Amino acid sequence: MTGMATTTDFYQLLGVSRGATDEQIRSAYRKLARQLHPDVNKEPDAAQRFKEITEAYEILTDPQRRQRYDMFGSTTAGGFGDFGIGDLFETFFGGDLRRREPRGPMRGADLRMEIEIDLLDAVQGRERVVTVPRLETCERCKGSGAEPGSSISTCPTCNGRGEVRQVQQSVFGRFVNVSTCPRCGGAGKTVDKVCARCRGEGRERKDREITLTIPPGIDDGQQLRVAGEGEAGMRGGPTGDLYVLIRIKDHESFKRDNDDLVHVLRISPAQAVLGDEVSVPTIEGGEVKVRIPPSAQHGQMVRVRGKGVPHLGSAGRGDQLVYLDVVVPRSLSKEQRRLYEQLRDIEAPPSQDAEDSDLFGRIKDAMGGN
Ligand SMILES: [Zn+2]
Ligand SMILES: [Zn+2]
Repeated sequence: MTGMATTTDFYQLLGVSRGATDEQIRSAYRKLARQLHPDVNKEPDAAQRFKEITEAYEILTDPQRRQRYDMFGSTTAGGFGDFGIGDLFETFFGGDLRRREPRGPMRGADLRMEIEIDLLDAVQGRERVVTVPRLETCERCKGSGAEPGSSISTCPTCNGRGEVRQVQQSVFGRFVNVSTCPRCGGAGKTVDKVCARCRGEGRERKDREITLTIPPGIDDGQQLRVAGEGEAGMRGGPTGDLYVLIRIKDHESFKRDNDDLVHVLRISPAQAVLGDEVSVPTIEGGEVKVRIPPSAQHGQMVRVRGKGVPHLGSAGRGDQLVYLDVVVPRSLSKEQRRLYEQLRDIEAPPSQDAEDSDLFGRIKDAMGGN
């Protein structure tokens, strides 16, 4: 063991005096270890500091090493090699450091977001720029976590393997305990100076503008997957994906039913009885002629072919469904009143057979019960 151990004052690390007793050292370590344990403390340098205080504790509670340290300010002569943080921590707190995840290449997280678009955008398709806050590879260190110009070397504790093996003797026999290298955290490499921008994480938070291509025909609740636009991976791992959930705003005069567009046309009793030809608007802003057949019933549907929503990812499109809403006038001119009175007197009242009553519900079903 070399490096930080020889240049650090172990007494200062633990915050005790040079004459501190074992008991004082033990209690100082215990207090610091609780604050700095990597499972509790998420500060980027906590793991490093935890290792340092543990090393200080190991040395200062071993009479021979402490004496050597006091005399020479160094422990290199001892060559105490790998030390078992895990074991030590277990002794104190019952935790288990060795079960921490191995830290090889890690894929970046997938990101999810939701956007709201107009029905017309879903019909025509469009591009849309969204801002995605995400972790990207740090520009300063290019993801290495090392300050530019600083050296990256193979971890001397594990020789680059990222894990350490300890042979342990127990009443059941000898067994080999493999654990994540406490020095490099499993990366196999150590950095002599961490990147000032990302503090060694290799990634930094950025707001990135991404242009989404919304295909014609997309429906409410569908998801766009944008490969490789999630968060940057770590230690050479691949980038995650971006998932965009599509929500479609209600339109004031069209309602979508799969790839058909439902539209309600209000007509007078006379138009319903005699039939008519009228212009109706289409979703894309044009107009189309619709023929109301004679004796049209309230709630009857007239289909206008090919004026609906394009099929997603295939040719063709749905229809515009025009539902006829027969509107009884709320007020009448003198002339209208005279004519309606004549009609009432010569018309027989409608039959009370309920065969047409289901038509009344059709418009409600088509409009989603409203
Ligand atoms: Zn960096
Ligand atoms: Zn290592």
